[in-house]
Amino acid sequence: MSIRFYNTLTKRIEEFIPLEEGKIKMYMCGPTVYDYFHIGNARSFVMIDIINRYFRYKGFDVKFVMNLTDIDDKIINKANADGISPQDVAKKYSEAFFEDLRKLKIKPADVYPRATENISGMIELIQKLIENGYAYTVNGDVFFDVTNYKQYGKLSGKKLEELIDGARVEVLEQKKNPADFALWKSAKSGEPYWESPWGKGRPGWHIECSVMSMKNLGETFDIHAGGNDLIFPHHENEIAQSECATGKPFARYWIHFGFLNIDNQKMSKSLGNFFTAREILENYSAEALRLLYCQTLYSAPLNFNEELLKNSEQAINRIKNSYHQLKTTVISDIEQEEFDTSSYFRKFEEAMDNNFNTPEALAVIFEFVKDVNSFISKHDKLNKSNQIKILEVYDKLASGVLGIIDLTESYAVREELVDSLIKLIIDIRAKLRAEKRFDLSDKIRDELKKLNIELEDKKEVTTYKITKQ
Ligand SMILES: [Zn+2]
Repeated sequence: MSIRFYNTLTKRIEEFIPLEEGKIKMYMCGPTVYDYFHIGNARSFVMIDIINRYFRYKGFDVKFVMNLTDIDDKIINKANADGISPQDVAKKYSEAFFEDLRKLKIKPADVYPRATENISGMIELIQKLIENGYAYTVNGDVFFDVTNYKQYGKLSGKKLEELIDGARVEVLEQKKNPADFALWKSAKSGEPYWESPWGKGRPGWHIECSVMSMKNLGETFDIHAGGNDLIFPHHENEIAQSECATGKPFARYWIHFGFLNIDNQKMSKSLGNFFTAREILENYSAEALRLLYCQTLYSAPLNFNEELLKNSEQAINRIKNSYHQLKTTVISDIEQEEFDTSSYFRKFEEAMDNNFNTPEALAVIFEFVKDVNSFISKHDKLNKSNQIKILEVYDKLASGVLGIIDLTESYAVREELVDSLIKLIIDIRAKLRAEKRFDLSDKIRDELKKLNIELEDKKEVTTYKITKQ
């Protein structure tokens, strides 16, 4: 079945048809690297990760690009406040960004372009806009003239006349129209700058994303994503710049992520309810946070509080316990009714195909966990074919698409646990042997052997090996 999702550009749920069959070119606005990112940003990063994983699960060849804005007013302000260079601020928080993505178990994008590495492309695009009559220069600044682009407002639904009237109070002397926006800003003293045909300066924020997306994905590409707060003016301006420069449609589908509130209040530093992702991950698992995000549709407002996060952690433990039980259940060659997993795959895909409905997809996973638990307790043992089928659901859906269980990690934890338990038994057996209670110590050795754990008594120590996994 095809994937359908809400396109902000057309304001309806549409069937997704990529430009080139089987391939997806997708861009997401990345961070401005001046601080650690907060759990509202993390929500967008996790949800685009899940969408990216789902496209790949469905067999698409995805090229996913996420930019880093490493020159911006916020970075310069932070540098001045901390008494370090803007480059050092950008370096520190770029590294933190990648570290936090890893902690959130986010699959890396294919390309992470940086604004400062694409300045010449930005200058070229601005020149094209001036040539095409969509931009003008004033004393070293370059502005985009919104009145020349009749489709301005098509993404956000804002009307050009209203924007011009509404913004009249903050009209800048040098701008022709209040809604015009900066493509290039002339350098102020002490700020980083690049040489350009209009003098020393730096790019405006919006032009960065137009250049970095089109350079990596082509002038027209499939999907552009970002937070809700970026629809206007950032994404509206990206469309205006790109389409006026190339004369072609820019991104064909737009995906936007909803806000995150804390206890139904806006998250803000001044209210003291502000959390960075790395703060949360000190006390909770990435899987719990990801599950909490999955409980709400990506585009809807999400309410966050610690109680909900604790509940998520418990829900994660239910999945982990079920998985461990599965791995430790005795596997034998017995005849057994088939545990049919096709309905879970079908229902999971139906949910995800329908506007990436992760709350429903999650419900399918929990229904599956419940059914697996009762199947195992009913039969006590599993045959190999059922075990493989069940593992496949964990592997492809819970781990592969949603990322709410880390099988490599769970496996390592289990290995460690097994190792500690065997060593504990070896210890007890050594004590029994010291007391010459050989009947019991031999029984332990024989019983372990039946579980494919072979003990080897050497002079001082007893070692073990697992003969069959
Ligand atoms: Zn952007």
